[in-house]
Amino acid sequence: MEYSHKTINGQPIQLPVGKVVCVGRNYVDHVEELANEIPDNPLLFMKPSTSLCDVNNPISLPPETLGNCHNELEVAILMQSPLKNASQADCLNAIYGVGLALDLTLRDLQSKLKSKGLPWERAKAFDGACPMSGFVEVGELADLQSLDFSLHINQQLRQHGNTSLMIWNLASLLSQISEVFTLLPGDIVLTGTPKGVGPLHPGDQLCLSLHEHFSVNSKVLVAT
Ligand code: ZN
Repeated sequence: MEYSHKTINGQPIQLPVGKVVCVGRNYVDHVEELANEIPDNPLLFMKPSTSLCDVNNPISLPPETLGNCHNELEVAILMQSPLKNASQADCLNAIYGVGLALDLTLRDLQSKLKSKGLPWERAKAFDGACPMSGFVEVGELADLQSLDFSLHINQQLRQHGNTSLMIWNLASLLSQISEVFTLLPGDIVLTGTPKGVGPLHPGDQLCLSLHEHFSVNSKVLVAT
């Protein structure tokens, strides 16, 4: 089913579907779990619009990816106005709302590509690689920099983060992104994953929560 942006209550959002800009290392605990170095500036990559799907639908994994497709729970920012070389204040004013996404990652393939210095798209940008929740409008959130979020898999806590623990806060991250990629209305920015990444398995029941705002449930299936 074709993806479109929705509110957390399932109402359509009148913004086009665009690119997804992602930051690779924005929480120290995750940088350490993969034994990476903290970069001097944000490590950026992109997922195409075709990677987006609705997390309320089952997550359908190709059989050849089983045991190797990792969850990365991330706070997702939906943009409503364009940003290019924008100030931090302008960046905050351009946000429509906040949701939760899974930056699905084929970890073995990514490690292989990383070791050869090759681009990561085959591991992170495939169709369906970005299951996305609905969005809470920014006006309903008191402080974007103190959002608590978590992922439970089969009722067990797998990932827990808080946006206060970001290496680059949202305003700084969006401003730095806008110096490289113009952000357009309808684009999404994924803001990095905290620790707790690991392989997904068929039948896994996922619960993504933006605390005090929403929880959404999903399920992992094998594609046929
Ligand atoms: Zn990620």
